[in-house]
Amino acid sequence: MIAEACTRRKLIDLTVALARIDSVNTTLDPAGGGEAEVGEFVRNWMTAQGWEVHVEWPASGRPNVVGVIAGGDGATLMINAHLDTVGGVPEALEVGVTDRRIHGRGVLDTKGGLAAALLAAAELDPGEPPGDIVIAAVCDEEADSIGTSHILRHWHPDAAIVIEPTDLAIVTGHRGFGILDVTCIGRAAHTGHRREGINAIDSMARLVTELAELDSRLAERETDPLFGPPSIQVTRVEGGRELFTVPDRCAATIEIRTVPGFDVQDFAAVVDTVDARTADGVTCRHEWVIERPPFEVDADAPIARSARAALMASGREVTITGAPFWTDAALFAAASVPAVVLGPGGHGIHSIDEWVEIDDLVACHDTLRHVMTNFGSHPESPIGNRP
Ligand SMILES: [Zn+2]
Repeated sequence: MIAEACTRRKLIDLTVALARIDSVNTTLDPAGGGEAEVGEFVRNWMTAQGWEVHVEWPASGRPNVVGVIAGGDGATLMINAHLDTVGGVPEALEVGVTDRRIHGRGVLDTKGGLAAALLAAAELDPGEPPGDIVIAAVCDEEADSIGTSHILRHWHPDAAIVIEPTDLAIVTGHRGFGILDVTCIGRAAHTGHRREGINAIDSMARLVTELAELDSRLAERETDPLFGPPSIQVTRVEGGRELFTVPDRCAATIEIRTVPGFDVQDFAAVVDTVDARTADGVTCRHEWVIERPPFEVDADAPIARSARAALMASGREVTITGAPFWTDAALFAAASVPAVVLGPGGHGIHSIDEWVEIDDLVACHDTLRHVMTNFGSHPESPIGNRP
């Protein structure tokens, strides 16, 4: 009981300490704190545990901090959690603790889970884990995932747990996404002579309507409940220049969500729709800004089984589900590293009041500790690679 209370106290203190360091992703907000200071905190914390610590720089001022706890000859397990957060109004960045919750930007997404992983690993006795445990605290998950992309070029774990808020459900799949920028170019003219111009906003409006109809058709498709349907939505529109001028330019950003078997290529119909705009005298250009694959792992993969056993050992109900959001787990899957997504519950990620449930931090800690001490204990497990 005393040990439990002690773990709880440590989890609260470490989560609060991590959250009090502004690490708003600088790609999202150039005025944000970035990952350097919180990375330095984590590096010092890991070093104080006597771990082997690596600091990598996927970009200037953007560190990944990786701690290695040496284990036996079994499989190497990586726990991946991101250091960066989204921004928000000043109130969102204030950190506070109540009886059952910790409030503040990043406590749920995903500094509380990082604290749980760090403390669980710090409790391991030397040589206790069957294989090496690698804790990767990465930069830039909230924007371009340069942190995990960099990690996967240098580290080759046998399996991974990606920490994100899942209410302690085991997430074994989620959709991918693609972002498409579209610009329609018409012809400017005085609005009194509107027939001499070509209105780019009219053209974009028709395109937006067509995409909404396409989205409705996609929603009717029979889909795997793990992923839900593929989708398409317009997330930004900007156009026109001034009063009394026929708008000659309108730009939009389109977000698509892909599922296995219906990927970016299958959205070619969308691009055809875009290009069809040239038919009414407007020229439309499209450009893919970013594409990310969907994520899927076999629910019977050793890492999923191990997570299930850990949850059962702590008496929790096991839920296997999909996630509505994209995570770095898709990058692990693309690198052929089986991974699951798991983390504490709470509410309000990316909103004004983000909070994490303290009981869930304790349960997340216990679950991760159980996986760390058991994963890869089977003799047939492959031996992990180190860089
Ligand atoms: Zn996150």
